[in-house]
Amino acid sequence: MKFHFSHFTFPLLQVLFPSTCACCGEVLVRGERQICLNCLTSLTHTLYSGHDNNHTERLLTGRIPAFANATSLLVFHHGNTVQKLIHAMKFHKNSELCLFMGRQLGLELLHSARFDDIDLLVPVPLHWRRRLQRGYNQSELLCRGIAEVMNREVNTKALVRHRYTSQQSLTSAAEREQNVEGAFRVKHPEQLEGRHILLVDDVLTTGATLVSCCDAFGQVKDIRISIATLSIAS
Ligand SMILES: [Zn+2]
Repeated sequence: MKFHFSHFTFPLLQVLFPSTCACCGEVLVRGERQICLNCLTSLTHTLYSGHDNNHTERLLTGRIPAFANATSLLVFHHGNTVQKLIHAMKFHKNSELCLFMGRQLGLELLHSARFDDIDLLVPVPLHWRRRLQRGYNQSELLCRGIAEVMNREVNTKALVRHRYTSQQSLTSAAEREQNVEGAFRVKHPEQLEGRHILLVDDVLTTGATLVSCCDAFGQVKDIRISIATLSIAS
């Protein structure tokens, strides 16, 4: 009988250093990654990706000139599993979880023909100070996860956040608009010219951040914009 090292090491490592679910903290069993099956099945999906005029698109219509398509994967509300998931992505330094959820979002986009002609993934940038505090930009890791599934390029250099803003979660809807107005700048317009980009963020609440990013894209020639967020607040 052949001895497979992995057959032996997985249970041993799990006993010594058990991995736990990012949402509920329960110990993961064999076959589970990042999130336990129970939490994974309790994530509320929007089912927007195949549909025009979905709630994400209605929220942004008229505020972002002529975007092509937009979607969100999950519904975020106070106390639900999606809120716990987003909190873990932002504050628990869990880069693997961000990549895992990026792959989930990528699979959803892949199954919708509406995102077939995307040719560049662009994350909503963090200010360098926030990135330093957090250890990574969760939206960039979402893009890396999407890229694995859709086989698209990621650009993290063209769009920059040049103004440090307070935490969006601490401000009211009206303040959010002012908070991020003019916070983004396109540093390398030539890298975006003529491309159909997918702008990616983790949470869509009022849309102020996405609108501000797209204002910055106004100077880029022949750019087409689509939008995907991991979650949308309900
Ligand atoms: Zn769980």
